[in-house]
Amino acid sequence: MNIALIAHDKKKKDIVNFSIAYEKILEKHNLFATGTTGSRIQEATDLKIHRFKSGPLGGDQQMGAMIADDMMDMVIFLRDPLTAQPHEPDVLALMRLCDVHNIPLASNIGSAELLIKGMERGYLSWRNVVKQSD
Ligand code: PGA
Repeated sequence: MNIALIAHDKKKKDIVNFSIAYEKILEKHNLFATGTTGSRIQEATDLKIHRFKSGPLGGDQQMGAMIADDMMDMVIFLRDPLTAQPHEPDVLALMRLCDVHNIPLASNIGSAELLIKGMERGYLSWRNVVKQSD
């Protein structure tokens, strides 16, 4: 599966800890991240990650393009709900595209854990069925 990992600055520590905790699961998948999130995860783990531009510089939109092309299977986007983001329109667009294309999206660590565990147990296999029938 193709998995997107994104975290706003105050959530970077959370996504690093999440990546360490679930490294054994994540390493079996193709990982994509916005620039700074990707470097932080790479510093802390052995995960191979395709890094896009930093979110505020267009990384969220690059991720959005993959979602629009139905090339992303899951998005973990740890948002900071307490800080205004200069690229808020990009954030909203990315989340909107997840809903347009029915891509599982976790916007906090609680739902991220459920998503990754559910994926490991095959609960997202419906996407493979949908892809095959396209
Ligand atoms: P970053 O981007 O990983 O480059 O910090 C994340 C974001 O704010 O969208």
